[in-house]
Amino acid sequence: MGRTAILRDRVARLKGLSPARMRNAWLLWQSHRRAQREPSCQGPLMPPGAMPMSLSIEPTTSCNLRCPECPSGLRSFTRKTGLAKVQDASAWIHGMAESLVYCNLYFQGEPLLHPQLEGLIDTCRGHGIYASTSTNAHHLTAKRAQSLVEAGLNRLIVSIDGATQESYASYRIGGQLERVLEGTGHVLEASRSAQRGTHVVWQFLVVKPNEHDIPEIQRMAREMGVHELVLKTAQLDDPRDGHPLLTSHREHRRYDRDEASGKWVLRNPLKNECWRMWQGAVATWDGNVVPCCFDKDASHVMGNLNRESMKAIWHASAYDAFRRQVTSNRQGIDMCTNCSEGSHVYA
Ligand code: SF4
Repeated sequence: MGRTAILRDRVARLKGLSPARMRNAWLLWQSHRRAQREPSCQGPLMPPGAMPMSLSIEPTTSCNLRCPECPSGLRSFTRKTGLAKVQDASAWIHGMAESLVYCNLYFQGEPLLHPQLEGLIDTCRGHGIYASTSTNAHHLTAKRAQSLVEAGLNRLIVSIDGATQESYASYRIGGQLERVLEGTGHVLEASRSAQRGTHVVWQFLVVKPNEHDIPEIQRMAREMGVHELVLKTAQLDDPRDGHPLLTSHREHRRYDRDEASGKWVLRNPLKNECWRMWQGAVATWDGNVVPCCFDKDASHVMGNLNRESMKAIWHASAYDAFRRQVTSNRQGIDMCTNCSEGSHVYA
Protein backbone atom coordinates (compact mmCIF):
# COMPACT_ATOMS: atom_id res chain seq x y z
CA MET A 1 0.00 0.00 0.00
CA GLY A 2 1.42 3.36 -0.82
CA ARG A 3 0.50 6.98 -1.18
CA THR A 4 2.17 7.12 -4.59
CA ALA A 5 -0.03 4.35 -5.99
CA ILE A 6 -3.15 6.01 -4.57
CA LEU A 7 -2.15 9.38 -5.96
CA ARG A 8 -1.44 7.85 -9.38
CA ASP A 9 -4.89 6.28 -9.34
CA ARG A 10 -6.65 9.55 -8.46
CA VAL A 11 -4.74 11.39 -11.18
CA ALA A 12 -5.72 8.67 -13.70
CA ARG A 13 -9.36 9.30 -12.88
CA LEU A 14 -8.99 13.05 -13.37
CA LYS A 15 -7.25 12.55 -16.72
CA GLY A 16 -10.62 11.80 -18.28
CA LEU A 17 -11.85 15.31 -17.52
CA SER A 18 -11.94 16.92 -20.96
CA PRO A 19 -13.26 20.51 -21.16
CA ALA A 20 -16.71 19.19 -22.20
CA ARG A 21 -16.81 16.77 -19.27
CA MET A 22 -15.64 19.47 -16.86
CA ARG A 23 -18.36 21.78 -18.06
CA ASN A 24 -20.90 19.02 -17.60
CA ALA A 25 -19.65 18.24 -14.08
CA TRP A 26 -19.95 21.92 -13.22
CA LEU A 27 -23.53 22.03 -14.51
CA LEU A 28 -24.38 19.00 -12.37
CA TRP A 29 -22.83 20.52 -9.27
CA GLN A 30 -24.53 23.88 -9.78
CA SER A 31 -27.94 22.31 -10.30
CA HIS A 32 -27.45 20.06 -7.25
CA ARG A 33 -26.75 23.12 -5.09
CA ARG A 34 -29.67 24.99 -6.55
CA ALA A 35 -32.05 22.10 -5.86
CA GLN A 36 -31.05 22.18 -2.19
CA ARG A 37 -31.76 25.90 -2.00
CA GLU A 38 -34.99 25.80 -4.01
CA PRO A 39 -36.40 22.24 -4.06
CA SER A 40 -39.78 23.36 -5.36
CA CYS A 41 -38.51 25.71 -8.07
CA GLN A 42 -40.40 25.90 -11.35
CA GLY A 43 -39.18 23.90 -14.35
CA PRO A 44 -36.90 20.86 -14.44
CA LEU A 45 -34.25 20.55 -11.72
CA MET A 46 -31.69 19.18 -14.19
CA PRO A 47 -30.36 21.75 -16.70
CA PRO A 48 -31.06 20.78 -20.34
CA GLY A 49 -27.38 20.38 -21.28
CA ALA A 50 -26.39 18.17 -18.31
CA MET A 51 -25.79 14.42 -18.52
CA PRO A 52 -24.49 11.81 -16.05
CA MET A 53 -20.77 11.96 -15.34
CA SER A 54 -20.70 8.37 -14.07
CA LEU A 55 -22.44 5.19 -15.08
CA SER A 56 -22.51 1.80 -13.36
CA ILE A 57 -23.26 -1.15 -15.60
CA GLU A 58 -24.24 -4.58 -14.31
CA PRO A 59 -22.43 -7.23 -16.38
CA THR A 60 -24.48 -10.03 -14.84
CA THR A 61 -26.69 -10.85 -11.87
CA SER A 62 -25.10 -14.30 -11.47
CA CYS A 63 -22.76 -15.05 -8.62
CA ASN A 64 -20.75 -18.04 -7.50
CA LEU A 65 -21.04 -17.15 -3.78
CA ARG A 66 -23.93 -16.92 -1.31
CA CYS A 67 -23.35 -13.84 0.81
CA PRO A 68 -26.19 -13.33 3.28
CA GLU A 69 -26.99 -9.63 2.71
CA CYS A 70 -26.82 -9.72 -1.09
CA PRO A 71 -29.73 -10.43 -3.44
CA SER A 72 -27.41 -12.14 -5.94
CA GLY A 73 -26.07 -14.41 -3.21
CA LEU A 74 -29.55 -15.08 -1.88
CA ARG A 75 -31.01 -15.52 -5.39
CA SER A 76 -33.82 -13.23 -4.22
CA PHE A 77 -34.33 -10.84 -7.16
CA THR A 78 -37.88 -10.23 -8.28
CA ARG A 79 -36.56 -8.68 -11.50
CA LYS A 80 -35.28 -10.65 -14.49
CA THR A 81 -31.73 -11.93 -14.16
CA GLY A 82 -29.19 -12.42 -16.94
CA LEU A 83 -26.05 -11.32 -18.76
CA ALA A 84 -25.46 -7.95 -20.44
CA LYS A 85 -24.94 -7.95 -24.22
CA VAL A 86 -21.59 -6.31 -24.83
CA GLN A 87 -22.76 -4.68 -28.05
CA ASP A 88 -25.72 -3.05 -26.27
CA ALA A 89 -23.76 -1.93 -23.23
CA SER A 90 -20.98 -0.54 -25.42
CA ALA A 91 -23.59 1.46 -27.31
CA TRP A 92 -24.81 2.95 -24.00
CA ILE A 93 -21.25 4.06 -23.23
CA HIS A 94 -20.75 5.46 -26.76
CA GLY A 95 -23.92 7.49 -26.39
CA MET A 96 -22.71 9.09 -23.16
CA ALA A 97 -19.03 9.45 -23.98
CA GLU A 98 -19.09 13.25 -23.98
CA SER A 99 -20.08 13.44 -20.35
CA LEU A 100 -18.82 10.22 -18.71
CA VAL A 101 -15.72 10.54 -16.56
CA TYR A 102 -15.84 7.06 -15.08
CA CYS A 103 -17.69 3.82 -15.50
CA ASN A 104 -18.15 1.19 -12.79
CA LEU A 105 -18.52 -2.16 -14.50
CA TYR A 106 -20.32 -3.74 -11.57
CA PHE A 107 -23.59 -3.55 -9.70
CA GLN A 108 -25.14 -6.83 -8.54
CA GLY A 109 -23.55 -10.20 -9.38
CA GLU A 110 -19.93 -11.24 -10.03
CA PRO A 111 -18.59 -9.32 -13.07
CA LEU A 112 -15.88 -11.86 -13.93
CA LEU A 113 -18.60 -14.39 -14.73
CA HIS A 114 -19.17 -12.29 -17.85
CA PRO A 115 -16.85 -13.78 -20.47
CA GLN A 116 -16.59 -10.53 -22.46
CA LEU A 117 -16.16 -8.00 -19.70
CA GLU A 118 -12.94 -6.92 -21.42
CA GLY A 119 -15.02 -5.66 -24.37
CA LEU A 120 -16.66 -3.08 -22.10
CA ILE A 121 -13.35 -2.08 -20.54
CA ASP A 122 -11.95 -1.58 -24.02
CA THR A 123 -14.90 0.62 -24.97
CA CYS A 124 -14.21 2.81 -21.94
CA ARG A 125 -10.54 3.00 -22.82
CA GLY A 126 -11.42 4.05 -26.37
CA HIS A 127 -13.26 7.07 -24.97
CA GLY A 128 -10.77 7.91 -22.22
CA ILE A 129 -13.27 6.90 -19.53
CA TYR A 130 -11.85 5.54 -16.26
CA ALA A 131 -13.05 1.93 -15.88
CA SER A 132 -13.32 -0.05 -12.69
CA THR A 133 -14.81 -3.34 -11.63
CA SER A 134 -15.24 -5.31 -8.43
CA THR A 135 -14.79 -9.04 -7.89
CA ASN A 136 -14.73 -11.82 -5.33
CA ALA A 137 -11.63 -13.02 -7.25
CA HIS A 138 -12.64 -16.67 -7.49
CA HIS A 139 -12.35 -16.52 -11.29
CA LEU A 140 -9.28 -14.35 -11.37
CA THR A 141 -6.87 -16.74 -13.03
CA ALA A 142 -3.46 -15.60 -14.30
CA LYS A 143 -4.86 -15.50 -17.86
CA ARG A 144 -7.92 -13.49 -16.89
CA ALA A 145 -5.86 -11.07 -14.82
CA GLN A 146 -3.58 -10.49 -17.81
CA SER A 147 -6.49 -9.88 -20.15
CA LEU A 148 -8.19 -7.43 -17.77
CA VAL A 149 -5.01 -5.42 -17.36
CA GLU A 150 -4.33 -5.47 -21.12
CA ALA A 151 -7.89 -4.33 -21.86
CA GLY A 152 -7.09 -1.19 -19.85
CA LEU A 153 -8.89 -1.75 -16.57
CA ASN A 154 -8.02 1.19 -14.33
CA ARG A 155 -9.15 -0.18 -10.99
CA LEU A 156 -9.95 -3.63 -9.67
CA ILE A 157 -11.68 -3.90 -6.29
CA VAL A 158 -11.15 -7.31 -4.71
CA SER A 159 -13.51 -8.24 -1.89
CA ILE A 160 -11.61 -9.90 0.92
CA ASP A 161 -13.67 -10.04 4.05
CA GLY A 162 -11.48 -12.06 6.38
CA ALA A 163 -7.87 -12.87 7.18
CA THR A 164 -8.56 -16.55 7.89
CA GLN A 165 -10.67 -19.05 5.98
CA GLU A 166 -13.07 -19.26 8.90
CA SER A 167 -13.79 -15.54 9.23
CA TYR A 168 -13.76 -15.05 5.44
CA ALA A 169 -16.30 -17.78 4.77
CA SER A 170 -18.61 -16.67 7.56
CA TYR A 171 -19.78 -13.85 5.25
CA ARG A 172 -18.51 -15.01 1.83
CA ILE A 173 -20.46 -18.21 2.04
CA GLY A 174 -19.01 -20.81 -0.31
CA GLY A 175 -15.82 -18.81 -0.78
CA GLN A 176 -12.17 -19.82 -0.47
CA LEU A 177 -9.73 -17.26 0.92
CA GLU A 178 -6.88 -19.04 -0.82
CA ARG A 179 -8.38 -18.26 -4.22
CA VAL A 180 -8.75 -14.58 -3.34
CA LEU A 181 -5.09 -14.42 -2.38
CA GLU A 182 -4.04 -16.25 -5.56
CA GLY A 183 -6.20 -14.00 -7.74
CA THR A 184 -4.79 -10.88 -6.11
CA GLY A 185 -1.28 -12.18 -6.75
CA HIS A 186 -2.11 -12.74 -10.43
CA VAL A 187 -3.46 -9.25 -11.02
CA LEU A 188 -0.60 -7.59 -9.13
CA GLU A 189 1.86 -9.55 -11.23
CA ALA A 190 0.09 -8.67 -14.50
CA SER A 191 -0.11 -5.07 -13.45
CA ARG A 192 3.59 -4.85 -12.59
CA SER A 193 4.64 -6.03 -16.03
CA ALA A 194 2.17 -3.82 -17.95
CA GLN A 195 2.89 -0.40 -19.32
CA ARG A 196 -0.29 0.94 -17.79
CA GLY A 197 -1.16 -1.10 -14.71
CA THR A 198 -4.40 -1.66 -12.84
CA HIS A 199 -4.88 -0.12 -9.39
CA VAL A 200 -5.66 -3.03 -7.06
CA VAL A 201 -7.85 -2.32 -4.05
CA TRP A 202 -8.67 -4.77 -1.29
CA GLN A 203 -12.11 -4.08 0.11
CA PHE A 204 -12.73 -5.47 3.58
CA LEU A 205 -16.35 -5.42 4.69
CA VAL A 206 -16.26 -5.14 8.47
CA VAL A 207 -18.79 -7.49 10.09
CA LYS A 208 -18.92 -9.13 13.50
CA PRO A 209 -17.16 -12.39 12.53
CA ASN A 210 -14.12 -10.62 11.00
CA GLU A 211 -13.80 -7.45 13.11
CA HIS A 212 -10.80 -8.86 14.98
CA ASP A 213 -8.97 -9.42 11.64
CA ILE A 214 -8.38 -5.76 10.81
CA PRO A 215 -4.71 -5.53 11.96
CA GLU A 216 -3.93 -8.82 10.20
CA ILE A 217 -5.57 -7.80 6.91
CA GLN A 218 -3.57 -4.56 7.01
CA ARG A 219 -0.38 -6.60 7.47
CA MET A 220 -1.33 -8.98 4.64
CA ALA A 221 -2.11 -6.12 2.26
CA ARG A 222 1.30 -4.56 2.91
CA GLU A 223 3.06 -7.87 2.50
CA MET A 224 1.37 -8.62 -0.83
CA GLY A 225 1.90 -5.12 -2.20
CA VAL A 226 -1.81 -4.37 -2.66
CA HIS A 227 -2.11 -0.74 -3.74
CA GLU A 228 -4.92 0.26 -1.40
CA LEU A 229 -6.99 -1.25 1.41
CA VAL A 230 -10.42 0.11 2.30
CA LEU A 231 -12.54 -0.91 5.27
CA LYS A 232 -16.16 -0.86 4.24
CA THR A 233 -19.26 -0.63 6.44
CA ALA A 234 -22.03 -3.17 5.89
CA GLN A 235 -25.58 -2.32 4.89
CA LEU A 236 -27.90 -4.51 6.96
CA ASP A 237 -31.57 -4.96 6.12
CA ASP A 238 -32.55 -5.49 9.72
CA PRO A 239 -29.97 -4.18 12.20
CA ARG A 240 -30.92 -5.31 15.71
CA ASP A 241 -29.51 -6.52 19.02
CA GLY A 242 -27.68 -9.77 18.46
CA HIS A 243 -27.56 -9.45 14.64
CA PRO A 244 -24.78 -11.87 13.67
CA LEU A 245 -23.13 -9.35 11.31
CA LEU A 246 -23.44 -6.16 13.37
CA THR A 247 -19.90 -5.15 14.34
CA SER A 248 -19.07 -3.77 17.76
CA HIS A 249 -16.63 -1.31 16.11
CA ARG A 250 -18.67 1.87 15.97
CA GLU A 251 -16.37 3.53 13.42
CA HIS A 252 -16.96 0.63 11.02
CA ARG A 253 -20.74 0.46 11.15
CA ARG A 254 -23.56 2.63 9.87
CA TYR A 255 -25.97 2.15 12.77
CA ASP A 256 -26.24 3.20 16.41
CA ARG A 257 -28.48 1.82 19.12
CA ASP A 258 -31.18 4.19 20.31
CA GLU A 259 -31.21 3.45 24.04
CA ALA A 260 -34.77 4.70 24.57
CA SER A 261 -36.38 2.39 22.01
CA GLY A 262 -33.72 -0.32 21.86
CA LYS A 263 -33.75 -0.02 18.06
CA TRP A 264 -30.72 0.28 15.81
CA VAL A 265 -30.93 3.35 13.61
CA LEU A 266 -28.89 4.62 10.69
CA ARG A 267 -26.29 7.16 11.81
CA ASN A 268 -27.08 9.56 9.03
CA PRO A 269 -28.98 12.86 9.22
CA LEU A 270 -30.79 11.86 5.97
CA LYS A 271 -30.73 15.37 4.58
CA ASN A 272 -32.88 15.99 1.54
CA GLU A 273 -30.03 15.77 -0.91
CA CYS A 274 -28.10 13.14 -2.83
CA TRP A 275 -25.05 13.88 -4.94
CA ARG A 276 -24.62 10.20 -5.83
CA MET A 277 -27.92 10.04 -7.67
CA TRP A 278 -27.53 13.55 -9.07
CA GLN A 279 -24.25 12.96 -10.84
CA GLY A 280 -24.66 9.40 -12.13
CA ALA A 281 -26.91 6.52 -12.97
CA VAL A 282 -26.93 2.73 -12.84
CA ALA A 283 -27.90 0.37 -15.67
CA THR A 284 -29.01 -3.19 -15.03
CA TRP A 285 -27.75 -5.93 -17.37
CA ASP A 286 -30.84 -5.50 -19.58
CA GLY A 287 -30.62 -1.72 -19.86
CA ASN A 288 -33.00 -0.52 -17.18
CA VAL A 289 -31.79 2.75 -15.66
CA VAL A 290 -32.16 3.11 -11.90
CA PRO A 291 -31.08 6.09 -9.79
CA CYS A 292 -28.37 4.47 -7.71
CA CYS A 293 -26.73 1.25 -6.58
CA PHE A 294 -29.04 0.99 -3.55
CA ASP A 295 -31.88 0.09 -5.91
CA LYS A 296 -30.71 -3.51 -6.11
CA ASP A 297 -33.99 -4.97 -7.26
CA ALA A 298 -34.68 -2.11 -9.72
CA SER A 299 -37.79 -0.75 -8.02
CA HIS A 300 -37.35 2.74 -9.52
CA VAL A 301 -36.84 2.19 -13.25
CA MET A 302 -36.48 5.50 -15.10
CA GLY A 303 -36.30 4.07 -18.62
CA ASN A 304 -34.46 1.53 -20.73
CA LEU A 305 -31.25 2.24 -22.65
CA ASN A 306 -32.11 -0.32 -25.32
CA ARG A 307 -35.21 1.66 -26.23
CA GLU A 308 -34.34 5.28 -25.44
CA SER A 309 -31.23 7.42 -25.18
CA MET A 310 -29.83 8.34 -21.77
CA LYS A 311 -30.51 11.95 -22.69
CA ALA A 312 -34.23 11.22 -23.05
CA ILE A 313 -34.31 9.19 -19.82
CA TRP A 314 -32.20 11.65 -17.79
CA HIS A 315 -34.44 14.59 -18.68
CA ALA A 316 -37.82 12.82 -18.56
CA SER A 317 -40.47 13.72 -16.02
CA ALA A 318 -40.02 10.44 -14.06
CA TYR A 319 -36.41 11.31 -13.23
CA ASP A 320 -37.36 14.90 -12.40
CA ALA A 321 -40.08 13.64 -10.05
CA PHE A 322 -37.63 11.29 -8.34
CA ARG A 323 -35.07 14.08 -7.88
CA ARG A 324 -37.80 16.33 -6.49
CA GLN A 325 -38.82 13.71 -3.98
CA VAL A 326 -35.26 13.17 -2.78
CA THR A 327 -34.69 16.92 -2.44
CA SER A 328 -37.97 17.54 -0.66
CA ASN A 329 -38.72 14.33 1.25
CA ARG A 330 -35.97 11.75 1.06
CA GLN A 331 -37.48 9.80 3.95
CA GLY A 332 -40.51 9.13 1.78
CA ILE A 333 -38.48 6.76 -0.41
CA ASP A 334 -37.94 3.43 1.27
CA MET A 335 -34.43 2.65 -0.05
CA CYS A 336 -33.21 6.18 0.80
CA THR A 337 -33.85 5.59 4.51
CA ASN A 338 -31.21 2.83 4.74
CA CYS A 339 -28.62 4.62 2.65
CA SER A 340 -25.26 5.99 3.70
CA GLU A 341 -25.25 8.87 1.20
CA GLY A 342 -24.51 12.07 3.09
CA SER A 343 -22.85 10.34 6.05
CA HIS A 344 -19.13 10.01 6.65
CA VAL A 345 -18.81 6.24 6.50
CA TYR A 346 -17.19 4.32 3.64
CA ALA A 347 -20.03 2.45 1.97
S1 SF4 B 1 -30.86 5.44 -1.89
FE1 SF4 B 1 -31.67 7.50 -2.23
S2 SF4 B 1 -30.37 8.87 -1.06
FE2 SF4 B 1 -29.30 6.90 -1.28
S3 SF4 B 1 -27.98 7.11 -3.08
FE3 SF4 B 1 -29.92 6.22 -3.74
S4 SF4 B 1 -31.20 7.98 -4.36
FE4 SF4 B 1 -29.51 8.75 -3.12
